[in-house]
Amino acid sequence: MGKKKTAKKGKKPHKNKPTSKKYTKYKIEGDKAIRMAKACPRCGPGVFLLDSQGRLYCGKCHYTEFKSKKVVEDIAPSEETKEGKEKKE
Ligand SMILES: [Zn+2]
Repeated sequence: MGKKKTAKKGKKPHKNKPTSKKYTKYKIEGDKAIRMAKACPRCGPGVFLLDSQGRLYCGKCHYTEFKSKKVVEDIAPSEETKEGKEKKE
């Protein structure tokens, strides 16, 4: 009876799941967490859209949104100075 050398048995080595990268979508400023990415309108807040090639894509429901120039105009630069002055200490 020829015995074959088997280095590997049926069991696969256990691998941990990659941790959620959701925290990368947030920016901590002071005590607040600011959302950097846009949330999916279908999945709701907490599910972010992936920014890819000028498009926003939801990995959960495959929702795709095309970026328009209007969105950029909506973000007024004056908002930054308004909220940035809120400081504790
Ligand atoms: Zn979605």
